[in-house]
Amino acid sequence: MATTDRAIASAEAHSAHNYHPLPVVIASADGAWMTDVEGRRFLDMLAGYSALNFGHGNRRLIEAAKAQLERVTLTSRAFHHDRFADFCTQLAELCGMEMVLPMNTGAEAVETAVKTARKWGYRTKGVPDGTAKIIVAADNFHGRTTTIISFSTDEEARADYGPYTPGFEIVPYGDLAALDAAMTDNTVAVLLEPIQGEAGVLVPPPGYLAGVRELTRARNVLFIADEIQSGLGRTGKTFALEHEGVVPDMYVLGKALGGGVVPVSAVVSSAEILGVFRPGEHGSTFGGNPLACAVALEVIAMLRTGEYQQRAAELGDHLHHELGLMTTGGAVETVRGRGLWAGVDISPSYGTGREISEKLMDRGVLVKDTHGSTIRIAPPLVISKEDLDWGLEQLRAVLTR
Ligand SMILES: *Cc1c(COP(=O)(O)O)cnc(C)c1O
Repeated sequence: MATTDRAIASAEAHSAHNYHPLPVVIASADGAWMTDVEGRRFLDMLAGYSALNFGHGNRRLIEAAKAQLERVTLTSRAFHHDRFADFCTQLAELCGMEMVLPMNTGAEAVETAVKTARKWGYRTKGVPDGTAKIIVAADNFHGRTTTIISFSTDEEARADYGPYTPGFEIVPYGDLAALDAAMTDNTVAVLLEPIQGEAGVLVPPPGYLAGVRELTRARNVLFIADEIQSGLGRTGKTFALEHEGVVPDMYVLGKALGGGVVPVSAVVSSAEILGVFRPGEHGSTFGGNPLACAVALEVIAMLRTGEYQQRAAELGDHLHHELGLMTTGGAVETVRGRGLWAGVDISPSYGTGREISEKLMDRGVLVKDTHGSTIRIAPPLVISKEDLDWGLEQLRAVLTR
């Protein structure tokens, strides 16, 4: 433990305390497994909040990155580079859309979607300048920038960061009537997570997302789907919205798009909508860089096969079946989610989410709690059924008394 304790003490002394990590210090990882500085192995049941959908050290992704590292890594958008067109074309095609605006982190892509919607509102819809409204859902998580936390309902994420950016309207998630009532002639967009990840893997009522699609279409309002965590295979489909047969006006993508190797994010939409931008009106030094494009191209190729979506669907059915069985014992109160993604509400008498996470860590399983006594389970999609079962066995053991 000495090595671990020293590393943690040193991190605490010299890094801002904006996180409270579990007391484990990872040194290497492969597939669904991580190894710490003491040589202990842990099953990764978080997968970097879905950034690691394809697992740690995925050979295809590492080889793609290595090959690109030897050629060219950064040009800035001042010049063209030879991976850019393929990346944009193939990502647009994967999304069934026309245009891509690449960024790096998820928050930047959400900011880009907000700017796109406002510009579209003024230039195309004809909303009076400075009056555009974007409707969002309570308990959302869209990132950490000043504008994004301005429309958060999480006090921890929001407090002390004012003055806040105006122009957002918050309605309850899953409530179509409230959304309808909030819409005005100045509404330019509705921004939603198809499944709310950070809120505890909340799946909206059946028909809600299709209803949002109908309402937004009828009112000439853009439907922006933040699929940063729900997209790219996690739920058993390429996009979580597909479960409801819904196509948004704009996808916001991130996390798994970078294959767990580099940060890659993007807004994907129609030529009409993304066509609002002219040179100089928006940008990013690193957005769409050659290394990012090379890795993301490999991610897109892997998703095109459909095999990861299928794995997530099959293993997800198994995961939800097993978790469902645990609800009869009383220790597990509720299980939500879709595909290889679950929010598990544990009876508070078994401890806080943090305490359960620590007990799982002691048994070699790494998860992350959300609020109260909720833990989320989202292993890499490459996890084997045997490893998943072993992980679930550890959860059962922690919940046995
Ligand atoms: C993680 C996340 C973001 C923010 O992404 P970052 O890369 O951390 O900026 C935005 N939206 C959703 C739904 C997310 O899960």
